[in-house]
Amino acid sequence: MKNTTLCYIEKNGMYLMMHRTKKQNDANKDKWIGIGGHMEEFESPLDCIMREVKEETGLTLTDCTYRGLISFCSPAYETEQMHLFTSHNFEGELKTDCSEGVLEWISSDDLMALPMWEGDRIFLSLLPQNIPFFLLKLVYDTEGSLRSHQLSFCGDDRKPLLISACLLGTACRYDGASKPISDTWIKYLSDKYILIPVCGEVLGGLPVPRLPAEIQKNGSVLRCDGCDVTSAYRYGAAQILRFADLSAAKTALLKARSPSCGKGTVYDGTFSGKLCDGNGITADLLIKNGITVYTEEELSCL
Ligand code: SF4
Repeated sequence: MKNTTLCYIEKNGMYLMMHRTKKQNDANKDKWIGIGGHMEEFESPLDCIMREVKEETGLTLTDCTYRGLISFCSPAYETEQMHLFTSHNFEGELKTDCSEGVLEWISSDDLMALPMWEGDRIFLSLLPQNIPFFLLKLVYDTEGSLRSHQLSFCGDDRKPLLISACLLGTACRYDGASKPISDTWIKYLSDKYILIPVCGEVLGGLPVPRLPAEIQKNGSVLRCDGCDVTSAYRYGAAQILRFADLSAAKTALLKARSPSCGKGTVYDGTFSGKLCDGNGITADLLIKNGITVYTEEELSCL
């Protein structure tokens, strides 16, 4: 079994990625990946990632957090254990020539659209969440398609709770603001649960800020200028259902009345401030898949 390391270096909402275009017989050919490589004899994972980052980018990491261990299993390749890191601080100048590919800072909004391994999308989507150290097993078939995955959190017996990111203070609402619950509630919840912040609209690729949108009587979602954003809402909801599946979360705390997160009551589609019965797109998908959804008006249920 081979051991490798990978680091996602982030700065100002951009990730340093490598487009693997140069190496001969490269299993990652034409894909975008983070920075890393094989562990050498007598190296620890930290030794390895520091060396790989220096060699490939010219940068010296001044912080580095060990986030998880990924096992890649495939009949086509030797099983690989990859030690995954993130870093937000470094020193030095970025190299312009790298023997393995082309280095580029990519906005976090554009990351998921790049050609990459299916499993990479899973752990990349986990990294912005403030989750504990995780073990992820990815099983690929001979054609390189992901066949199954299994995620577990280490040394933590708290249950996972999906939570609307804006309730934790992330400025992801349409107006560029957040709607945080009190610090007391956040402490209570984080003592009891592994909080997995999610925002269906951002995960659906919508910008912050954005024009407000409401669900129409026919189920579509229209922005106030008439633009149909249903597919973005549905895509974001599907991503959150995938987080639920990955983390085995059975409960979600979502923002009341939002066209994504609302449960039981949402705005009625006329942009007049009137409410009607119904669920937001994400809340509805989670409920239909057996996830218990609460809003911040039901905190005492948690
Ligand atoms: S989609 Fe949900 S999490 Fe995102 S801003 Fe709206 S209410 Fe908050």
